[in-house]
Amino acid sequence: MKDQFGRTIDYMRISITDRCNLRCRYCMPERIEWLPKEELLSLEEIAEICRLASLLGIHKIKITGGEPLVRNGCDRLIGMISQIPGIDQVSLTTNGILLADYAESLRRQGLHAVNVSLDALDPDIYAQITGYHKLPQVLDGLRAMEQQQIPTKINVVLQRGVNDTECLALAELARHHAFDVRFIELMPIGHGKQLTCVSNTEVFQKLSDHYGTLLPDPDTHGNGPARYYTVEGFQGSIGFISAIHGKFCNSCNRIRLTATGDLKPCLCYQERISVKDALRSGDTKEAQKLLAQAIFQKPAAHCFETLSSITEDAEMSRIGG
Ligand code: SAM
Ligand code: SF4
Repeated sequence: MKDQFGRTIDYMRISITDRCNLRCRYCMPERIEWLPKEELLSLEEIAEICRLASLLGIHKIKITGGEPLVRNGCDRLIGMISQIPGIDQVSLTTNGILLADYAESLRRQGLHAVNVSLDALDPDIYAQITGYHKLPQVLDGLRAMEQQQIPTKINVVLQRGVNDTECLALAELARHHAFDVRFIELMPIGHGKQLTCVSNTEVFQKLSDHYGTLLPDPDTHGNGPARYYTVEGFQGSIGFISAIHGKFCNSCNRIRLTATGDLKPCLCYQERISVKDALRSGDTKEAQKLLAQAIFQKPAAHCFETLSSITEDAEMSRIGG
């Protein structure tokens, strides 16, 4: 369906847990209180929301978190959602640590594509960002995705003075593998407010200086606002998601659902519409009405450029990115 500004909303990102097996500084608070289990939607409740959303024209679902693969049954949930008539694509965003363990099951359950978050190939920088020396597990996960032939994108968030030196090494992954490597500008959400974003204009320049002209890639690569470029001799493309320095809100196509059953019209604002009570009381009509309301009420744009206007105060691990 369309929102109040005429944008078609056909994509929902669903956080299925606030828990994680990493502690990326820009995403997780230092002191964590996990949500009580009974506050989380069950897998069946999540699948039911997907079914209702499909009736409103949501055709693409992204499973995220926290780390979605730490929740038991994440693979089963992907299978449940893939079976819903009207849902064309179910994809996953993960830190990759558990991907190798679940690779075969994810393929069997019908996973269409995966985004693996990887901010450094230098093991020490990786550990500095994530809090753990788990880079080898992520690389195993990437190999497993190649073996299972699941289309894979690598998401990179650069922080000034931390991993901005890693951008060329990460881009090289797209030379030797059919992975798209995407640079996502750090957003001022949660602890991200205290860190310094590296603009994609700068990254683009750095890559152009090194590789020569990057040519716009005419192929469609996904559901989102990334702009893709090709580099001669590369198997994958290089993507840029420039939420801060290239605002793309006029083509926004998504809503978010948190692990506790709150619909979130925009990443930047605190506004939430809870669908949990309607769902748990079996009032499907009301749940669908709330979904339609969340879609219709999407604001015109985020306000990341004016820090004082951002009302969202939750960390990204609670929202799902
Ligand atoms: N644990 C999974 C992962 O790391 O991919 C899924 C959840 S994580 C919150 C989803 C994405 O959000 C990751 O790619 C992460 O890098 C990104 N992210 C987290 N905080 C961010 C921020 N402040 N700005 C931009 N991206 C952020
Ligand atoms: Fe965990 Fe993903 Fe957040 Fe890192 S970005 S702490 S992996 S949820």
